[in-house]
Amino acid sequence: MIKLENVSFQYEGGTKRALTNVNLTVNQGEMLAIVGHNGSGKSTLSKMMNALLLPTAGKVFVDGMDTADDSNTLEIRRRVGMVFQNPDNQLVTTMVEEDVGFGPENLGLPPAEIRLRVKKALETVGMLDYAENASHALSGGQKQRIAIAGMLAMQPEVLVLDEATAMLDPRGRQEVLSTVTRLNRELGMTVIMITQYMEEAVICDRAAVMAGGRIVATGTPTEIFENREALAQCRLEPPAIVQLRQSLVEAGLPLSGKPMTVSELSEALCQLF
Ligand code: ADP
Ligand code: MG
Repeated sequence: MIKLENVSFQYEGGTKRALTNVNLTVNQGEMLAIVGHNGSGKSTLSKMMNALLLPTAGKVFVDGMDTADDSNTLEIRRRVGMVFQNPDNQLVTTMVEEDVGFGPENLGLPPAEIRLRVKKALETVGMLDYAENASHALSGGQKQRIAIAGMLAMQPEVLVLDEATAMLDPRGRQEVLSTVTRLNRELGMTVIMITQYMEEAVICDRAAVMAGGRIVATGTPTEIFENREALAQCRLEPPAIVQLRQSLVEAGLPLSGKPMTVSELSEALCQLF
């Protein structure tokens, strides 16, 4: 689906490389987390995925299309939708349905097709009742869901969320997380979740850990959380529930499996007693 081959990148005027020899394949239908500290290169990497940035060295392919080839840019941007951190910067018009229809309108689609796409996209993110509301009056989580709907209206194949939950309160985060989980699980959409919250990697199939512009580890969330050395080097910690489970096991409790959530851990504890 998306393939990065030995990608390095240096910003103009930057003193060091923002990405060094990154190799990554994103498979169709997977939900991939990219975790790492501030400045580790996550956003730079995500911009490689829809030709917002081009590698200084190496190659990026989206469905086999080379992002460095200008003639592919529009199609690549349509296929790979991006949602960014600040919900307020992503809403371009005043009314929800206009906002969601903005992209399809720019594609020059017929009005009936646009209306259909807007309705479907709003339905998918659970915001159809808000179609005629003012965008600015929505909560942060609702705004991000509208931003996601705007992407869905373009019928992308991949959704990249670059810390899309970072500015939201816990409830808004939950709204966005359950929306993208549903997109992945029920509609088979490929989702790339860029995040500093290790808890958000739990819901993903696979995680890649970034530090200093490199991918330092990839694996299932469990594999990543158990690789405490690699995490410590990147100044990252497993989710609180995983840390609790690790301490309980170290203290001698023979917990079965590798629970990662509150319900999984409580179930494992109940089995013991
Ligand atoms: P992250 O998203 O993980 O916080 P970034 O990809 O934004 O990391 O940044 C990676 C590195 O590139 C950092 O050292 C950052 O300072 C640098 N960088 C990011 N954007 C620019 C830019 N526009 N110009 C110069 N350097 C940049
Ligand atoms: Mg970033």
